[in-house]
Amino acid sequence: NDALRIRNLNKTYEGGFQALKGIDLTVQSGDFFALLGPNGAGKSTTLGIVCSLVNKTGGTVEVFGHSIDTDLARAKMNLGVVPQEMNFNQFEKVFDILVTQAGYYGIPTKKAAESAERYLRQLGLWDKRNSPARMLSGGMKRRLMIARALVHEPRLLILDEPTAGVDIELRRSMWTFLEEMNRRGTTIILTTHYLEEAEALCRHIAIIDEGRIVKNTSKRDLLRQL
Ligand code: ADP
Ligand code: ADP
Repeated sequence: NDALRIRNLNKTYEGGFQALKGIDLTVQSGDFFALLGPNGAGKSTTLGIVCSLVNKTGGTVEVFGHSIDTDLARAKMNLGVVPQEMNFNQFEKVFDILVTQAGYYGIPTKKAAESAERYLRQLGLWDKRNSPARMLSGGMKRRLMIARALVHEPRLLILDEPTAGVDIELRRSMWTFLEEMNRRGTTIILTTHYLEEAEALCRHIAIIDEGRIVKNTSKRDLLRQL
């Protein structure tokens, strides 16, 4: 049972720049997976295609067996995404942001409210539930992005550079939270350009460079080779 199957993924941006040159990637259910690579390697493009924010030029993507081409609604039900940019409505209240998001997935209001409360408590945002998002600190906004991605209880959580620009204290608490989510069964994929982050958290690491997967291995084997 694979959480994510990517086959021969290609992306050429308008203007002709070839960002992805045939990416193949399989992430098993339950894994904690890092997609590592330098800036400009194609990490965000790959994740953008998986969550259908970016159109692909060629190839296939399946989330728990659901193709994003033919079965997008079910693929999305299984997928939570934490993008790099904060893209919530700054004037909406924290609690409402989560309930609104759950509504996109057709989750009934009562269940949505329960799920919102659970993740706001777990991420230390419950006291802020009635604040508009713009009143939160940067670190709180990061955590709100994670809570929003989880409110429909996806089986696969994807985070794009989750701790870029985050102070060490928040980074540690985010790591602990993600490890606990993974222990309880959520498959996690994150992109990072910090080897230490991949090393601290992940069981499998793929390295992407110039639009190609140049290595795909268990963490243990990778560290042995360095
Ligand atoms: P990473 O996330 O690994 O830093 P990206 O996937 O963001 O890399 O970018 C891969 C390459 O594609 C980079 O060279 C980047 O400049 C280019 N790129 C990204 N978005 C666009 C776009 N909208 N139009 C043209 N080129 C883009
Ligand atoms: P779209 O308008 O592309 O259909 P949705 O209605 O699915 O997007 O989602 C609306 C909001 O949820 C947007 O803020 C978007 O960034 C975010 N979003 C889109 N897809 C996902 C996803 N798979 N998981 C989490 N959030 C998503």
